[in-house]
Amino acid sequence: MLHYTNKLKPILAILLVCVAFVSTAQPSERENYKGKTPKYIFYFIGDGMGLSQSNAAEAYLGAIEGNSPIKQLNMNSFPTQGFYTTYATDRFITGSAAAGTALATGHKTSISTISMAADRLTPLKTIAEIAKEKNYKVGIVSSVSIDHATPATFYAHQPTRNMYYKISLDLSKSGFNYFAGGGLKHPEGDGEVNVNAKNSMSNFGMGSEKEILKKEPNSISVAKSRGYRVVNTLEGFKNLKKGDDKIIATAPNLSGGSALPYFIDQQNGADISLAEFTQKGIELLDNPKGFFMMVEGGKIDWASHANDAATVIKEVIQLDMAVEKALNFYKKHPKETLILVAGDHETGGLALGFAGSHYVSAFGLLQHQNISYEGFSSKIAEYKKEQKENAKFSDALEMVKTHFGLGDASKGLELSAFEIEQLKTAFEKSMTYNKEMKKEDQFYLLYGSYDPFTVTACHILSHKAGIGWTSYSHTAAPIPIRAIGVGAELFNGFYDNTDVPKNLMKLIE
Ligand SMILES: [Zn+2]
Repeated sequence: MLHYTNKLKPILAILLVCVAFVSTAQPSERENYKGKTPKYIFYFIGDGMGLSQSNAAEAYLGAIEGNSPIKQLNMNSFPTQGFYTTYATDRFITGSAAAGTALATGHKTSISTISMAADRLTPLKTIAEIAKEKNYKVGIVSSVSIDHATPATFYAHQPTRNMYYKISLDLSKSGFNYFAGGGLKHPEGDGEVNVNAKNSMSNFGMGSEKEILKKEPNSISVAKSRGYRVVNTLEGFKNLKKGDDKIIATAPNLSGGSALPYFIDQQNGADISLAEFTQKGIELLDNPKGFFMMVEGGKIDWASHANDAATVIKEVIQLDMAVEKALNFYKKHPKETLILVAGDHETGGLALGFAGSHYVSAFGLLQHQNISYEGFSSKIAEYKKEQKENAKFSDALEMVKTHFGLGDASKGLELSAFEIEQLKTAFEKSMTYNKEMKKEDQFYLLYGSYDPFTVTACHILSHKAGIGWTSYSHTAAPIPIRAIGVGAELFNGFYDNTDVPKNLMKLIE
């Protein structure tokens, strides 16, 4: 990559000129804006949420309710819709850190960089920091760990997203008023992760042991010494009330990667949903000087990496329920509120159509899945540990019937001989393969870095529903943004992701 860069210098220079040009695609509307300044700003970001993720959710809801092919999400009811490009400075297909930086600062940066210029030396001011300077109260909410790339780009400045510990120190240094959702990944220092640290969304990474190399001052204690109160129980969360300030509220039950459990796996009455964290944010942040709240639906991306359509759709629905809370607030303050619903990039190359299902769409079949790929992978891992060489394919078939409906003719989910063969091959792989799947492995195309049996079950159900996948990674499809309220008109059109915070900065100037 690096010596490539040298050879490509003249081309890069031209590209940079293009970038500069594109990123000011709509300066006239922005510069000539004469409207009001929004007092309350909601900035929702669906991580990995392209047009097809939100449309799949609408098609699914339409199918299970049966009244029309599409049931519109709250986010798509907004009067203003725009699209933007997402590329990073050093890669056409962006990542969450570079895309988050663009959406938080108005500057393009390099892959993995958290709100610093592409050189990884120069910090870039974020819209959340500017809002704080303008006396807005600031909230940062996410369904994944609160030090993960997207939320981090709003308060941290670090050369790479993997510096979770330093990011968590930046968190309490920010002085923002409300952090909520998932926990912190490495509160005792990044040294606790061994060099082969597993990717948090890889099934084989689940439960990987941590090797504590060097303990640092716990970043939660540091946050407390800086005046934050940390709440991590249901009771404590419920008791948070208007006037409580400098709060870090994390989910009572954290799943893999210190994230909220998937919406499909959440237990009513035991877990706190993204909508509840958002509603609490409104309660705590509402004040005469206004607020800025960023809310990330972070696991749309994770489930899309795993090609798990039912879980993706439920994550989009969870985000839309959080949007509904903002919309209810907007209805009370329509002349003072702006709501944006954006995304950072598309993940998985999700398509509402698949070669094997031709023109058939049967999105309703996805309702028979009752567990996320993560939950199902754990069951397979447990089974493998218990049964060892006694593992039987008939048991595995029972498990996909129970959790995906696969093989249940009464649900319209009969398995063909070919599908049974696919499941059998994958099951044998799951029971015998112990390494993490690498991109160069011949099986990567089939299973990505996930448990082979689980990802195969997800694929078969997706295909039966008429959903196709092209990747276990991100794609470069332009991303939709929706806007309602004060200044929404600035978000019309086709522009670059860096224009989103530039518009916001203009609005609160
Ligand atoms: Zn992302």
